[in-house]
Amino acid sequence: MSGLIVEEAEKTFGRTGVLHGVDLEVPDGSLGALLGPSGCGKTTLLRLVAGFERLDAGRISVGDRVLAEGRSNHVRPERRGVGVVPQEGALFPHLSVARNVAFGLGRRGRTHRRGRTEEVLELVGLSGYADRMPHELSGGQQQRVALARALAPEPALVLLDEPFNALDPALRSELREEVRQVLRTAGVTALLVTHDPEEALSIADGVALMREGVIVQTGTPREVYERPGDAGLATYLGETVVIPGELRSGRVECALGTLTPYTGTDGPGEGSVVVRPERIVFAVEGERDADEGVPGRIADVTFAGHDSVVHLAVEGTGTRVKARSHRHPVPEIGARVRIRVSGEVAFFNGAAAPVW
Ligand code: ATP
Repeated sequence: MSGLIVEEAEKTFGRTGVLHGVDLEVPDGSLGALLGPSGCGKTTLLRLVAGFERLDAGRISVGDRVLAEGRSNHVRPERRGVGVVPQEGALFPHLSVARNVAFGLGRRGRTHRRGRTEEVLELVGLSGYADRMPHELSGGQQQRVALARALAPEPALVLLDEPFNALDPALRSELREEVRQVLRTAGVTALLVTHDPEEALSIADGVALMREGVIVQTGTPREVYERPGDAGLATYLGETVVIPGELRSGRVECALGTLTPYTGTDGPGEGSVVVRPERIVFAVEGERDADEGVPGRIADVTFAGHDSVVHLAVEGTGTRVKARSHRHPVPEIGARVRIRVSGEVAFFNGAAAPVW
């Protein structure tokens, strides 16, 4: 077993408390994402796990092995068996790809170094690139070499610190998939630090959401996206529709009808109903299901590539909501529709969704 366990980690720089009792678990062989806005303490936690910083209190272990506990017990970074893939510019510019990768292998025998270097370069799809220099590689290839270098010594844990940041969007999503595949094949436990919700949700097995030095929610990508713990998390993790509502006897009354909130949202009274736009569905008069839901009209349509954003005006309420729809062709503006919500909604006390 070599899962990562962080228990009640505390870290203060001078008078600034950065981590306030962080608990985090990444199960053996899985990819966890630590997701949160800039400045929330992600990099600090990563540096504590890598051993570049000392804990003030708490404990960090990988499997049965304690890497750090409180201020006094601190295993040196090079003895942790933890590989790190930094943001960018991580390669030694004057060393070839092979030498960069072999660097992490320290003093092991030459044959072993060569064999292992070839093995990990093949794993990241760069077999033929051993003799190239870093400047002869694209940004994506450089990050793959950095991953190969981190994996070469067969670490128990790999930490990735915003490794796709410097890449353009198309390359980013391609490399994400590749990195996930490589980590799976290697069977290594990994923790990815990112401020990009799409990145975390698309590649991680589990997500930990961090805000101001505290983990505020954990779950699978689907769980945190579909059941965010509060309105701020809901808006941070994806597009939302927020409308006023009232929770009474376990049901929410709002412009979209009487809806079911998922358990774990806030208590009775007035508040905000939060729905993902793809959960708002509509049927045009004359179609099947056109008698279900609340009446309204199509107010506007925006083409959005793989789907459309359909703005719907709910009759007699002055409420407008947006739906994400894959319908083709999209019904005409002005068409009469019935609008409903598919599945559960979130309900939070308070007037509107605060920004993260
Ligand atoms: P980003 O995504 O921008 O890197 P982050 O979530 O990784 O942000 P950290 O880099 O961990 O956040 O920083 C968290 C807070 O701790 C910030 O307010 C930062 O200024 C502070 N901090 C980090 N390192 C130090 C340090 N060595 N000395 C003093 N303050 C620090």
